[in-house]
Amino acid sequence: MSDEDLQGLSDRQLRAQRRRLAASLGRLEATLPGSLVRQGRRCSSSGCRCRRGELHGPYLYLALYAAGRNRTLYVPAALETVVEEHVGVTQRNEAALEQIARINVELLRRRALG
Ligand SMILES: [Zn+2]
Repeated sequence: MSDEDLQGLSDRQLRAQRRRLAASLGRLEATLPGSLVRQGRRCSSSGCRCRRGELHGPYLYLALYAAGRNRTLYVPAALETVVEEHVGVTQRNEAALEQIARINVELLRRRALG
């Protein structure tokens, strides 16, 4: 919802929406930041086909931004499904929290936060 959409709702509607969003939060213990990317890789063997551009993989990585830098963490094949689930839950929770935050800013603007 855009800020304009939020402004079009009554205090009561905003609170109802906020309640629905809060109730939609799930599995907070599964929180795993970052986004998933598939990348081909070069190995250390000098004669390998990957040196000619035929990369190994692609493999799944979790791209993270932490402590001021980007890094990627290899996701073993056996954990792909679990990691995808965790990242998906996290992205949905973050979207809901962001929406709740915007509603609360709007309620404060109206002097109706409570
Ligand atoms: Zn190779």
